[in-house]
Amino acid sequence: MSAARALQDDLLSLFVVDSVQDENGLQSYLKRVLQVTSQCFRTSGASIFLEEGGVYHLAAKLGPAVRTPDGAVIQKGIGLAGEAIELAEPKIVTDGERADIGSSLIVPLMDGGTCIGVLNMARGHDEPVFGEEDLRYAGGVAGQIALAVHNAKLFASAREYDRLKRLAEVGQMTAAIAHEIRNPLTGILGAAKMIQEAPELTEEMANIIELETMKLNLLCDEFLDFSRPIRLDPEDQNLGDVVRATCSLLESSFSDSEVALTVTNENQTKCIDRRRIEQVVRNLVLNGLQATPKGGTVSVNVFDWGFSVHDTGAGMSEEAQQKLFSPFFTTKPSGTGLGLSIVQKVVQAHGGFISVQSQEGVGTTFEVHLP
Ligand code: ADP
Ligand code: MG
Repeated sequence: MSAARALQDDLLSLFVVDSVQDENGLQSYLKRVLQVTSQCFRTSGASIFLEEGGVYHLAAKLGPAVRTPDGAVIQKGIGLAGEAIELAEPKIVTDGERADIGSSLIVPLMDGGTCIGVLNMARGHDEPVFGEEDLRYAGGVAGQIALAVHNAKLFASAREYDRLKRLAEVGQMTAAIAHEIRNPLTGILGAAKMIQEAPELTEEMANIIELETMKLNLLCDEFLDFSRPIRLDPEDQNLGDVVRATCSLLESSFSDSEVALTVTNENQTKCIDRRRIEQVVRNLVLNGLQATPKGGTVSVNVFDWGFSVHDTGAGMSEEAQQKLFSPFFTTKPSGTGLGLSIVQKVVQAHGGFISVQSQEGVGTTFEVHLP
């Protein structure tokens, strides 16, 4: 029976085509399956139903004998096809109700022990009735169709998952942007109103506007860093210098908060993007400052493997530590939750990694390992 063999080969090659990797690919795959099976089994009509939500919905049909209306469903156990699904066995029907159909072949599409669909084929009276051999070959074909449908569903759900995840991120991002922009804007608006009402305050208000605008600028940088891949411009640098220079710019924030900042004097040459590593140090040190109460200490130490930032602050719960590097995770009323996610991106772009140790009420240490 070479036609049936050729059919199996044809279906096999259909099954491997990558067009089955999306929803439309599945549709055209099913159409093509029906064309090939109709030809090889000399049917006057064929249809495929696929399971969704416990019932079997018409997914594709072909040929003049198919009167099945769009949107038709088959329920397990009800009707001839429903019985074949329930028994999970292919079935030949020769005493159907329709005068134009001589015999039908109903083949459940089995994926493991589950029936994920059913292939129906009908022959007119001018063709011989379906026989045992047809039944056997149809079983093999059905296995391949079931596999292809199974794969197409996997691809579709993976894509849907990605899409939902992206949508959720866009939603979070939009909320974070709106929230973060509003504070500086309120400051700018207030300052502009003051200038109108009390021109003598112009200079003071202009300073506020400048400061708030700079905050907005920094915010834009942070959102952009998060949203695009990090490009590095690495050069040999003294890591000790980079750390000390960054920390010296933060000294006034520390004295305002009455938190001590100590930096070791170790020198280490590393091939790094200076601006990016400064950003990492600044983020970690400021997080340390924000977590540390008056009288506490943040210390930055340089080693041959990189550097560490230790604080005697609030520490973090196990749960917070799990989420720490996720974008938008923040426990601060005006935090973006992007700092550590950018830090991790920069460190990984350098071929390094970042680790954290923290104990609630005791403090936190971040280690940045750079190759
Ligand atoms: P943000 O600073 O905007 O909140 P980050 O990504 O920098 O965003 O930090 C995320 C969260 O991780 C913080 O809100 C805080 O809860 C926690 N965190 C980060 N660093 C520390 C630290 N040194 N001590 C305690 N908690 C920290
Ligand atoms: Mg931060």
